Amino acid sequence: MLTISTRPGRTFMGRLAKGDDLLQALEKLCQEQKITLGEVRALGAVTGAQVGFYNQAERKYYFLEFDQPLEILALVGNISLKDGKPMVHAHVTLADAAGRAFGGHLAAGTPVFACEFAIFEYLADQVLARQNDPETGLMLWPPATTK
Ligand code: ZN
Repeated sequence: MLTISTRPGRTFMGRLAKGDDLLQALEKLCQEQKITLGEVRALGAVTGAQVGFYNQAERKYYFLEFDQPLEILALVGNISLKDGKPMVHAHVTLADAAGRAFGGHLAAGTPVFACEFAIFEYLADQVLARQNDPETGLMLWPPATTK
């Protein structure tokens, strides 16, 4: 198990612009503000969506594409480093006009209609950086706390 101790840093609240790419806009803000560790939450609506499902047996992402207006019921994500740069890892639950929910691993290709977000920066004595995890085939945080 990996555990690192964090303390609160800056917090940001805001709205994305209509037409922004949901994931890329959040990631750009984190990179501009040099947020290397933190959490992100958001809600609002998108005009379409691209979300991934990781097939564990095949070790491969399959992407679902939605070309319709959807509500963002919840976006939860974290911020850490990948290849030395802030990366947002986010999952979304989206709903259609009938209230049916869909979701998955948020990918680029999800255009914002309206989106309100909050970002919570954390400070830590250690860096949290993604690395290839041979057991899952994913880019994950290290498997254990190093002393
Ligand atoms: Zn994911």
